[in-house]
Amino acid sequence: MNRSAGRMFLVATCLVALLAVACSSEVERCPKCGMDVRSAPRWIAGLTRDDGTELSFCSPRCLFAWRHQVGAEGNFWVTEYYSQQRRPVEGMHFVVGSDVVGPMGAALVPVEGKEAAERFLHDHDGERSVEFSEITVELLQSLKKGS
Ligand SMILES: [Zn+2]
Repeated sequence: MNRSAGRMFLVATCLVALLAVACSSEVERCPKCGMDVRSAPRWIAGLTRDDGTELSFCSPRCLFAWRHQVGAEGNFWVTEYYSQQRRPVEGMHFVVGSDVVGPMGAALVPVEGKEAAERFLHDHDGERSVEFSEITVELLQSLKKGS
């Protein structure tokens, strides 16, 4: 790489960095509770619609409450507790009643795999783990009382 190419590369790198900073300062609010979803990145959950647009929530709890409220459909995803990776809700275990607190208080903690769910239940004094299909309005309301 010659000198001017090197300089170009540096300028381009700076531009990318600037852009990243500018974008990250943009506030994305949870459609359910209004908090900035990026203030607690490890809890972000959301919905990808069929047209590819996305909606992000501060936590699985807000996502599911909102889903029941508006009857939304689409591909729901959560941030897995251990890996911090985005995962589809199907096949995840959600631990209720543990000592881990989310942005909204009592949390539904998404854990991938039966073994990890059992480990989490044991390590964090969880009450039980449920699947996505078992997350009902009643369950969400019982969380509210507990927090
Ligand atoms: Zn929220």
